[in-house]
Amino acid sequence: MKLTRISFPRIVFSLIFLSPAYAFATEWDIVHAGKLLAIPGEKVENEKSVILKDGKVFDVRDGFIDSTSLPINEKDTIEVHDLRDNFVLPGFIDGHVHLTLYFTPKERINWVNMSDADIAIRGAKYAKETLLAGFTSVRDMGAFTEDAVYAIRDGINEGHIVGPRTFVSGHPIAINGGHGDITHSFNPAVSNALRTTGICDGAAECRKAVREQIRLKADHIKLTATAGVMSDSNAGLELQFFEDELEAIVKSAQLMGRKVAAHAHGPEGINAVLRAGANTIEHGTFLNDESIELFKSTGAYLSPTMSAFLPLMPLVDDPNSFLTESQREKAEEAVKFFNRYVRKAHKAGVKIALSTDAGVGPHGANGIEFRLLVEYGGMTPMEAIKAGTINGADNLGKLDELGSLEKGKWGDVVAVDGDPLQDISVLENVNFVMKGGKVFKNATL
Ligand SMILES: [Zn+2]
Repeated sequence: MKLTRISFPRIVFSLIFLSPAYAFATEWDIVHAGKLLAIPGEKVENEKSVILKDGKVFDVRDGFIDSTSLPINEKDTIEVHDLRDNFVLPGFIDGHVHLTLYFTPKERINWVNMSDADIAIRGAKYAKETLLAGFTSVRDMGAFTEDAVYAIRDGINEGHIVGPRTFVSGHPIAINGGHGDITHSFNPAVSNALRTTGICDGAAECRKAVREQIRLKADHIKLTATAGVMSDSNAGLELQFFEDELEAIVKSAQLMGRKVAAHAHGPEGINAVLRAGANTIEHGTFLNDESIELFKSTGAYLSPTMSAFLPLMPLVDDPNSFLTESQREKAEEAVKFFNRYVRKAHKAGVKIALSTDAGVGPHGANGIEFRLLVEYGGMTPMEAIKAGTINGADNLGKLDELGSLEKGKWGDVVAVDGDPLQDISVLENVNFVMKGGKVFKNATL
């Protein structure tokens, strides 16, 4: 076959003709912020304009500017968002949600009755509630119906449904009968029918289970290193894997560029999985001094999910609640530490990323975690905001795209009435939510 030669002027002409500036209109958004915390951890500024170009931050300028100073072409669109009476921040990031779960007394029977499609449709509702609460990015920390959670993520990315940027782990990696194996207390016929792609025993099976989640399109890997409160099993709250299994999971995930998030309550489990190289500890309830040393030497994040305690507390005290005896025993033990573990870790300088475990509690109430981090975790309001923005982005490995309103990052913007540095609880009622330059909620009008 003869190759056609293309002359240099023709290439130049083609490049100019096809370049986006000529072919497409640019979407500009100008956000007028009365008060702006563009980079959590740095100072709040008055009367600023955040300028977005095609959904990403183009510039942040003094005063309430109009479009005259922008390099605008004829076909471009410009929208001005008046938040001059509001406190404006980057979109929030929740490091631990379950968009396919909601623990009510009915949830276990739901796992039998609902199809993946039912769970995906229900999850679409939870995703929307999460976004409207100001959480523009989330890490989904495990689904027992992984098809549903991938459909939610992909549906959001395609614009078919409304939700936060969602990064998913698929099915958690768990041992047979352990936390994360939801089949263990059903009748055997039902257990066999429920899918268990993430269940493994022995290093070889665990490598395969991790690789299978990655094949199914997981963004990161979640393992249940220790037992858990809500699994109906009287196996305590400690380590459930052997060391070689932990290493197999962490290494095979990291070899394929995936971060590893480890559910862990008991100190033996926390420390073993940190030594194996996990990137985050989910919960971390009974962390000890050795855990703190390991967090600091490995640079791992603590993802403390304090919100998950809130629905548990009344259940523990109510003898008629739906908790089974083993769930109640574990919940009683864990609740005693509610006021201790985050405070201890934070004081020692452990990196903390805000997380809620939404799905254990209700979806869309994620903002409560900011207040818990201040009231029970010993953080200043600014530290809590940083935990739910900058640290969340770093934890996702997306600090170049998310977590602050800086040039080149996504235009994920929330606004509240009042000053969260004076009263952190104002973050529980956001009145404006924008994701990638698109407004999803505006209650300021
Ligand atoms: Zn969870």
